[in-house]
Amino acid sequence: MDLNNNFIDLHTHSNKSDGSFSPSELIRYAASKNLAAIALSDHDTMAGIKEAIKAAESENIRFIPAIELGAVYGKKEVHILGYVFDNYEAKCKAIDKALKNFSDKRKQRNLEIVERLRKDNISLDFEELEKESEGSSITRVHIAKALIRKNYADSISFAFEKYLSDDSKYVPEKSILVKDVMDFFKQFNFYTSLAHPCRYKLSEADLEKLIRDLAKMGLDALEVYHSSQQPSDSTMLKKLAKKYDLGISGGSDFHGSNKPDIDIGIGYGGLRVPLSVLSNMERDFLAK
Ligand code: AMP
Ligand code: MN
Ligand code: MN
Ligand code: MN
Repeated sequence: MDLNNNFIDLHTHSNKSDGSFSPSELIRYAASKNLAAIALSDHDTMAGIKEAIKAAESENIRFIPAIELGAVYGKKEVHILGYVFDNYEAKCKAIDKALKNFSDKRKQRNLEIVERLRKDNISLDFEELEKESEGSSITRVHIAKALIRKNYADSISFAFEKYLSDDSKYVPEKSILVKDVMDFFKQFNFYTSLAHPCRYKLSEADLEKLIRDLAKMGLDALEVYHSSQQPSDSTMLKKLAKKYDLGISGGSDFHGSNKPDIDIGIGYGGLRVPLSVLSNMERDFLAK
């Protein structure tokens, strides 16, 4: 793949959440693919950002600190990406402190999943899970891997199908509200984008309502380009972005070997996010 240095990826995960690459491996991989810029957007944590900044300096690739936060909207869980375009070093301590609220809720939810599994005689050691991912966000992918180790499943996808899907009896819904997430982002001047809008399986009218509500809360952009979205989805989302005066973001949602079919920069193969997407986001951020 030759991406000619004109393409970027603004949605990736490292092993600080449910990706398989360390932050520096991720940056080196992005550089090896000729990407012009990359954002690391782990779930609920910015624990990988410092390492990524360092690696990006030596690889000569533009790096944007980011995060992906999940929240409940009605009966659905939606994900919102936040990008830091100013003063990351100065505010990172305060950001990490504020994020503790979200990571505590994640921990409670994981404990509840493990407890519900235990009641059905499926026993996992939560402390062991925590130990192996010290300082990282533990996600359902980690629980899936623990189920595989204990022979309750033979693949991550099987573990999700049988035990860990959103509507599984073992999985309580998230307790963080969209407003909490938007307030957090506003407090630290993040540039925000609704992640993979087509993944929520909403009707056209409900998707538009979600976008309208989020725009009122200060949302900046829609993730128009994403591995899971077809060109026709992107066209539809571009129209909605225009209608609600929102910007455009894009990324693959790379998770390394935890989602082996998705590659950095290109998703399932056809994804391309032009560098102009990032320039426009920054232009809009500065004009805010
Ligand atoms: P959590 O944030 O703990 O609810 O975990 C959700 C994560 O699981 C998401 O970020 C996805 O990346 C991942 N995930 C969901 N479904 C699957 C699946 N079928 N296979 C692999 N990963 C999945
Ligand atoms: Mn994930
Ligand atoms: Mn997501
Ligand atoms: Mn993601």
